[in-house]
Amino acid sequence: MKTSKMNHPNEGVKCVVNTCHYYMSGDHCAAQQIEVQPRNASNSEQTDCATFMPEGQLS
Ligand code: SF4
Repeated sequence: MKTSKMNHPNEGVKCVVNTCHYYMSGDHCAAQQIEVQPRNASNSEQTDCATFMPEGQLS
């Protein structure tokens, strides 16, 4: 899912994925919205952020 990067953290999200385009230092996510997948997951290990985009990749 593509979204816009804000110039401030999304206060509802903590994220440590520092290789993501939307990552902001302090373990913040600056994506306006995120999408988490997949449906019917059984535990947190099976879920991940579908909004992740590698740093440096042009949106
Ligand atoms: S988009 Fe997802 S992976 Fe990227 S910083 Fe936000 S929560 Fe983390």
